[in-house]
Amino acid sequence: MTAKIISGTEVAKQIREELKVEIAELKEKHNIIPGLVTILVGEDPASQSYVAAKNKTAHAIGIHSEQITLDADTPEDELLELVRKYNSDDSCNGILVQLPLPKHINEGLILNEINPDKDVDGFHPVNIGRMVLGEKCFLPCTPHGVLELLARSGVETSGAEVVIIGRSNIVGKPMANLMMQKRESGNATVTVCHTRTKDMAAHCRRADIIIAAVGVPKMVTADMVKDGVAIMDVGVNRIGKTESGKAILAGDVDFDAVKEKASVITPVPGGVGPMTITMLMKNTLQSAKMAAGLI
Ligand code: NAP
Repeated sequence: MTAKIISGTEVAKQIREELKVEIAELKEKHNIIPGLVTILVGEDPASQSYVAAKNKTAHAIGIHSEQITLDADTPEDELLELVRKYNSDDSCNGILVQLPLPKHINEGLILNEINPDKDVDGFHPVNIGRMVLGEKCFLPCTPHGVLELLARSGVETSGAEVVIIGRSNIVGKPMANLMMQKRESGNATVTVCHTRTKDMAAHCRRADIIIAAVGVPKMVTADMVKDGVAIMDVGVNRIGKTESGKAILAGDVDFDAVKEKASVITPVPGGVGPMTITMLMKNTLQSAKMAAGLI
């Protein structure tokens, strides 16, 4: 079996077109333009490019986005004040503080200060609590993107054995919770693997769906998966540079070998990555509609 390769780039494009139509309607019928503020502290090149991509996508679909760049030595108090300012600014529906923050700033303190109704990243404890309870909330963008990819590729999750590798707060943990919930794209039987898992290959071989969010290039090999498995590869690992200096990326899955056994598989790059930014846009639109009492 050779897998169907799921282009996250194409799915994300399709969702962005849908969002663009909804955003235009919101403006026409209610005179509302969703607003997003991105805050970048310091000059980390990867963070700079993520924030730039978020702003570019927002503009392209009709979201008003404002980027604030602060010096790396900005005091914690100043960042807190800035978050508070946008918490009380009605034109701002989403506040995104790009992580990681410089070491002298307490990330948890900053994220907790964001008004949960503007927490479009879905990282605030209130949103995480609402998610666990299955209540209306902003879903964290990467797991949300994986759910959309599964749904739009026709992968049945109900009753499926799902193995998630990784238990981070932003990917593995929420992913596991969402997959086990009594909801569409959920109802799965979930196993979570991490560095203390004894025989990861044995767990993976049982899986109908494997979601890898580890940060170790090509860790999931063909001998670890069963025929027909669906693979969602969240990992983004820089494994070298081209002659022109461009980063060469690889996922957490040995794509070339595993695609010969899988039924569907996401590539890296061009798989889960483009979905993450798109889900941020979806959350920002949701926030604007919630603020206007439309949903
Ligand atoms: P993280 O916070 O570093 O967590 C990695 C997880 O993988 C941890 O739970 C760790 O286990 C587990 N792990 C590490 N090495 C392992 C091993 N050898 N065997 C089994 N488990 C192992 O990473 P993250 O933020 O979740 O990100 C994971 C990957 O996804 C990274 O490559 C990141 O760049 C990528 N990512 C992509 C997107 C996207 O939009 N595509 C978004 C976010 C992250 P312990 O808990 O036991 O330490």
